[in-house]
Amino acid sequence: MNKIEHIGIAVKDLEMSNKLYASLFGTKHYKIEEVKSEGVKTSFFKVGSNKIELLEATNQDSPIAKFIAKKGEGVHHIAFAVTDILSEIKRLKSEGFIVLNDIPKIGADNKLVAFLHPKSTNGVLIELCQEIEK
Ligand code: ZN
Repeated sequence: MNKIEHIGIAVKDLEMSNKLYASLFGTKHYKIEEVKSEGVKTSFFKVGSNKIELLEATNQDSPIAKFIAKKGEGVHHIAFAVTDILSEIKRLKSEGFIVLNDIPKIGADNKLVAFLHPKSTNGVLIELCQEIEK
């Protein structure tokens, strides 16, 4: 893994949270993107060289809706940038980690993504992401 790509925070109300985090960071979000397949609407902030993703559920079956129902708002996942997501998935599986997506999905912000089950990572949902080359 190369570096932390972003940290994902589950929120109930994206519009309100965009304002809250804009005043916290002193800068506005630079994009909003809906990922229909995941039932989420996301916004992204740049804080120095770091990125924060806010996630709001767009329906009740969304993983974000379920997360908030269970744990409330808060840190949802940590995403790591990888160079070759397929070989990283293979490596992590061979190390015994539970990979939720054998075939990476198209995520927000032009990324191929795959998640590791928190059960296999001390309760932390880990996202792998690889930039999609244009
Ligand atoms: Zn993410």
